[in-house]
Amino acid sequence: MSINIKSLISVLDAEWIGSDTDIFVDHISIDSRSLQNGSKTLFIALSGVNNDAHLYIAELIEKGVQNFVVQYIPENVKGKANFLLVKNTLNALQQFAGYYRNLFDFPVIGLTGSNGKTIVKEWLNFLLSPDYNIIRSPKSYNSQVGVPLSVIAINAKHNLGIFEAGISTVDEMIKLEKIIKPNIGVLTNIGSAHDEGFQNLEQKINEKLLLFKNATTIIYQKNQLVDLCLEVFCERYPLKDRVLFSWSFTDNTSDVFILERENTNETTTIQYQYQSEFFDLKIPFSDSASVENAISCLLVLLYFKYDFDTIQNRVQMLYPVQMRLEVKNGINNCSIIDDSYSSDFQSLKIALDFLESQQKKNATKTVILSDIFQSGFSNEELYSKVAQLISDNNVNRVIGIGATISSFAGKFSNCITFQNTAEFIAQFESLNFNSETILIKGARSFQFEEIVALLEEKTHETVLEINLDSISHNLNYYKSKLADDVKIMVMVKAFGYGNGGLEIAKLLEHHKVDYLGVAFADEGISLKNGGIKLPIMVLNPESTSFPSIIQYQLEPEIYSIKGLKAFLKIAEERKLKNFPIHIKLDTGMHRLGFEENTLDELIQTLKGNSTVKVKSVLSHLATSDELKHFDFVISQIDLFDKLSSKLISALDINPIRHILNTSGITNFPKAQFNMVRLGIGLYGVSNDPSEQKYLENVGTLKSIISQVRTIPSGDSVGYGRRFMAEKETKIATIPIGYADGISRLWGNQVGYVVIKNQKAFILGSVCMDMLMVDVSNIDCKEGDSVIIFGESPTVIEMAAALKTIPYEIMTSISQRVKRVFFR
Ligand SMILES: *Cc1c(COP(=O)(O)O)cnc(C)c1O
Repeated sequence: MSINIKSLISVLDAEWIGSDTDIFVDHISIDSRSLQNGSKTLFIALSGVNNDAHLYIAELIEKGVQNFVVQYIPENVKGKANFLLVKNTLNALQQFAGYYRNLFDFPVIGLTGSNGKTIVKEWLNFLLSPDYNIIRSPKSYNSQVGVPLSVIAINAKHNLGIFEAGISTVDEMIKLEKIIKPNIGVLTNIGSAHDEGFQNLEQKINEKLLLFKNATTIIYQKNQLVDLCLEVFCERYPLKDRVLFSWSFTDNTSDVFILERENTNETTTIQYQYQSEFFDLKIPFSDSASVENAISCLLVLLYFKYDFDTIQNRVQMLYPVQMRLEVKNGINNCSIIDDSYSSDFQSLKIALDFLESQQKKNATKTVILSDIFQSGFSNEELYSKVAQLISDNNVNRVIGIGATISSFAGKFSNCITFQNTAEFIAQFESLNFNSETILIKGARSFQFEEIVALLEEKTHETVLEINLDSISHNLNYYKSKLADDVKIMVMVKAFGYGNGGLEIAKLLEHHKVDYLGVAFADEGISLKNGGIKLPIMVLNPESTSFPSIIQYQLEPEIYSIKGLKAFLKIAEERKLKNFPIHIKLDTGMHRLGFEENTLDELIQTLKGNSTVKVKSVLSHLATSDELKHFDFVISQIDLFDKLSSKLISALDINPIRHILNTSGITNFPKAQFNMVRLGIGLYGVSNDPSEQKYLENVGTLKSIISQVRTIPSGDSVGYGRRFMAEKETKIATIPIGYADGISRLWGNQVGYVVIKNQKAFILGSVCMDMLMVDVSNIDCKEGDSVIIFGESPTVIEMAAALKTIPYEIMTSISQRVKRVFFR
């Protein structure tokens, strides 16, 4: 891509504020963290409710970016760069992508549906890649932002596009259609996901069909409702020569009629009738969702006129698709990012950005990369670009695997190569992986999953998955409730309420929150060691920790005269000046803090003292979530106002004042003072049911089925025989127990887990490391995924049943449960 940005003035309906000369860019970015940003970047500053990329423009200019699409020009950067000023930067991104799409004229497959889009897209890419140079959406980039980013990665060498479009409400698809403009449409399983945004199923289908406005072929599973919707659709958007190409298990008027299914544990053989002939097709999966997705692919292959043998050979090799980038703990203090099933230039760019965002201080950056296929470029050109990209991203070592990348090893610095994966594995020990963040990225045929298996820390199968995007969403939700100039401290105590301390702190630092809060000094120290630069307040500093608080530049909360004197003594010995401290007042919580009658002594002690500086004055509400105690809260707020004002005027200081926690932000918006302290809300839990729907779930605790068995009526399950089967019962054993933080009170059919979207109640007592559930009515097998909590059951629901609060459930998940972060 090389674009004269002045040509975009009319495309984007923009005002040009910048230099007179012609400027060419070859890279579009919306991510200020990306190390790929540079002088050839056009940065589009997207702006959410409170997540405003305009704030990063100054930093980006320092890094060499010169060209921006903006909604406004921040004061501090006026005249320092070139700006395309538009009304709405998201619209501008979409308009640009639509314009760019129209520069190309090759077949494009557009996928939509409720389930299976990403899998069908990845599989089609695999099935068709021997014959086409394919550009496809990376991972599940199917949103209003993801689709334009996918499309602008097209280059002149591509000759087939596969893009997916996901929507959650009306009016969204029409925008995506303009950007993707598919000529071949595939409607995958329509299901019931995301129904909140639509009045009913029919409206949802109608909306999705809009992706196919200009599609001459539409591939879909026949059923009455979809047929009805399609009829209306084709009348409303008539297109000469449009072909509807359908399949069905039940309707023999469909173009491809699936007659028989034979299911073994691992494969399914279907017989299908097409153009009055019969064919068998073996699909390497046994679950019905995968079979449906494979049939969608079959129709595309038939549309492209592949012969029976080719179809069979390729479909047989379909594989489980990884939906997103994840960080996992590796051996020897490494972190690994597993992207082992895809290797193309575009997804490499995305993975390198993800690598950067997960990079820990002092860790080395390593990339293990296979040959790259289907770029459209010559190898010479391709590996030059890859080497440049890798060097822009400050990667310390490159391990190339494959004959082609080996022959271009000279282009990379600090690169070792292997002809194939087996050679690498043979040398594995000598490569000494240690304290590295490792991106593993390879084409399917290189079987990098074997490398992942070697590098991954061996733990049991239970993981707590943390959705970083949901954390951003929740942060922005609460930020939107704050008055201008009110700062935000985020509480990351107790390991980020059980969700992971450093990773979340890194994200919060990116979002420019003002402060972090932890309970104890060692929590703050590990954040500082991890490279966090934000100021960190320590709620409960023990006096033994004062020296390390000073050493690590943490900021203690001081809550008693004794503590203050002890801290002053050490601070004076070290001849500190203006060391930041926070003064806690007790206004009714009666936990920590100076009471009204100790205020005078506090003032006397601090007066004229320049060893420390009072950065903030705070107090904590006891009942901000319970409106029956409304008057009590107001009395706390009033007392805080009174005591802090007295302190401020007596000492003649100007500290930050703060009292609100999450529920306080919700219920007492007038008491924001200069800062609020957000806790549980960030992690997706509101104490207010009416607010809950605005938050996104952050943590999902998952495990797998270890074993399935059927027991006869009269047998018992587990310790103490607390479950007695009254009929034949199928049970599954899950490797998670009370030692992982699952309360025993959740056992004995009080609680349940979710398997294949269905509830499976816990039978008998929860054991230390395992529990057993009833799967009599669930079609499941060993290895299937199990949800302990997340979207359902929610921690809120669990807490209610267990007569506790979500805080306790979340922070009880033991550290032996591996945390996995994803976007
Ligand atoms: C934990 C804590 C918070 C955050 O409370 P949430 O209810 O989780 O928002 C705020 N302030 C102090 C002093 C805390 O200990």
